[in-house]
This record gives sequence, structure tokens and C-alpha cells, in this order.
Amino acid sequence: MSDAIKAEKLTSWGIPFDEYLVVSGPCSAESEEQVLATAKGLAELGRVNMLRAGIWKPRTRPGSFEGVGKEGLYWLKQAGKEVGLPVTCEVATPQHVEEALEAGIDVLWIGARTTVNPFSVQPIADALKGVDIPVMVKNPINPDIELWLGALERVQTSGITKLAAIHRGFTAYKKSRFRNKPNWKIPIELRRRVPSLPIICDPSHICGTRALIQEVAQTALDLTFDGLMIESHIDPDSALSDAKQQLKPKALGKVLAALQTKKEKAGSEQAAYLDNMRGILDQIDTALLGLIRQRMDVSRSIGAFKKANGISVYQPKRWKQTLQQRIRQGKELGLDEDFVLRVYQYVHEESIRHQESGASDLTGERD
Ligand code: PEP
Ligand code: MN
Repeated sequence: MSDAIKAEKLTSWGIPFDEYLVVSGPCSAESEEQVLATAKGLAELGRVNMLRAGIWKPRTRPGSFEGVGKEGLYWLKQAGKEVGLPVTCEVATPQHVEEALEAGIDVLWIGARTTVNPFSVQPIADALKGVDIPVMVKNPINPDIELWLGALERVQTSGITKLAAIHRGFTAYKKSRFRNKPNWKIPIELRRRVPSLPIICDPSHICGTRALIQEVAQTALDLTFDGLMIESHIDPDSALSDAKQQLKPKALGKVLAALQTKKEKAGSEQAAYLDNMRGILDQIDTALLGLIRQRMDVSRSIGAFKKANGISVYQPKRWKQTLQQRIRQGKELGLDEDFVLRVYQYVHEESIRHQESGASDLTGERD
């Protein structure tokens, strides 16, 4: 365990959420209208707890859309105000920190390309000195847990106590179905090393494509992650960054509705087990009743035979033998003696009734 990091619980952030925190919003803020429309769509779901938007975009190659910059902070904050949700954005330099704080951004996060470099993390941590704001630290792009822990420690050393890790997958040279390989053993090890640290999963950057988001988000919940950060855009296909992985707010609603928490899963597994076992009981009872019906039909025929041959219906010696035999058989099957005795008293009583009606009704009609 790492003694160096002690994080407060996610519930201390002052952001209400149900079983797990849901953060959503566009990869990039592109226009005031786009941020607001996305925020409204998300707020309608009633399940999103915090809005996100990238303001400064760390692009792999130069020349692509690099974010709208500072003014986007105000679009985001305003959209949050309009729908009543706190907001978060990525900061990659001390100036970003300063501008985000000035705009009233509620939670900050450090991106994967920043976490990787202590020379970048340290000045951000320094800019956070004396500030009480939750900070989320994405994993470094390479699968190095020490680097991830190191960035978290740097931020904590500046006095930040509301900390969380974001797992967004790791770059892999080998082609895989994921944009960034989840490598689940790393966040699992992080949880082992720092049990108090909330971990949020970012399925969007792990998957790189909408189709896989449900599966990855479910795995994160199965692993008891504390939250999800999922990118959404009012019109994903026209998004200026990460178009393939963003979901329309309504589609996000469907993903969230289909997710099962551990509790729900356990509940539905229990329910499925009970349904299954009760179905078996129903089948056994149906068979039991059918057999009892058959037994009574045989008794009735015996009754008619006895009557035709002048034999008395009640035969105490035969009954005593039958009962002893049944109790013995029951014992061999692990059934309680008294229980078998009582069952057979009822069965015998009813058999006699059927024999008598068989004896008085030689046509063999049922009563
Ligand atoms: C993002 O969240 O849009 C982003 C750039 O993420 P990452 O740092 O995980 O690549
Ligand atoms: Mn993105």
C-alpha cells in the first residue's frame, strides 16, 4: 500500500451522485451552442452528475483542432449553471489552472499526455497550492503505475485532498480492438496500493468507438470503479475531435440504463437462481400431484375389485406393513420418520375414500 496518498471520499466533493459518479460532455467545446445543447441533453437524462469539455486539446499531430481556449471555459461554466451541474475540464499548464479557476470551473483533470511527464505535472501541482478543488489524474499513456502514482503524489503534496484517478487505457503499438488498451490489472493494482483513492473509468478513450463503450463501462462497474467519464456530443459525426467515440446524449442514456451495478447484478443473479429453482419445484409438484392422482385411480379400481370379490376395503395388516415399508424407504432417502408417517396417514385416508367410492361405483367414474 502507498502511504503517500490519502484521498478523501468522492462523496466529500459536494457533488451529488447515485451509486457511481457520471461525468459527460463533449471531447471539445466547439461553440457556445454546442456546449449548451449537449449540456441540456445530458441534464435531461437525470443521471449525469458533472459536465466535461476539453478547452485546450492535446492533439497527437499538429494542424488539427486544438481547442477553443479560454472562452470555452465560460461556455462550459454557463452551461453548467443553466442545467444545474458542476463542470470540469483538462488543465495542462499552470496558466490553464489559473484561467480555469478564474472561470469558476469546479473540478480539474490532468490529461494522459501530461501525467506522463513530471516536468509538466509539477508546475500544475505548484499552481494548485492553497486551492481547495477536486483534481482527477488520468493514467499516463504508457502502462506505468509509478508514473500515475507519482503525478497523484505531486498534486497531493500541493495540499489537494480531493483526488481521483481516471483510467483511460494505455497506448499499445500492437493493433487491438481498443484505441487504448484497458490493461485492467493496472487500475486494479492502483486500488490495491491506494484503497482510499476513487477511480473513474473513461470508456470513451479506451474504446475509441461508440460500439464498445457499454462493454467497457460495465467492466469498470464490475470492478467497483467509482465513476464513469463518457464523452457526448449533440452531433457526434460532426465533432471536431474524437468523432467516432462520442455518444449523443440520448444514446448515453441508453448505455447508462443498461448498466448494472454489482448490487443489481447480484440481485438479478439471485432472482434468476430463485426463478430457476422455483420452476423445478413447480415441475416436481406437478409430477407429485399427477402421481397422487394415479395412486387414487388404482385405489378406486382396487375398491371395485374388493367389492366384486367380497373383500373388505380396510386391511389393517396390509396398511401396517405398507406404512413400515414407506417409513424405511423414507429414512433411506433422508426423510423424517414423523413426516413420512403423517403424509401416509393422509394418503391412506384418501385412498380408502377412493376405494369406497370405487366399491360403490363400479363404473369407475371419478368423484
Ligand atoms: C480527453 O479527455 O478528451 C482527452 C484528451 O483525454 P486523454 O488525456 O485521456 O487522452
Ligand atoms: Mn477526447
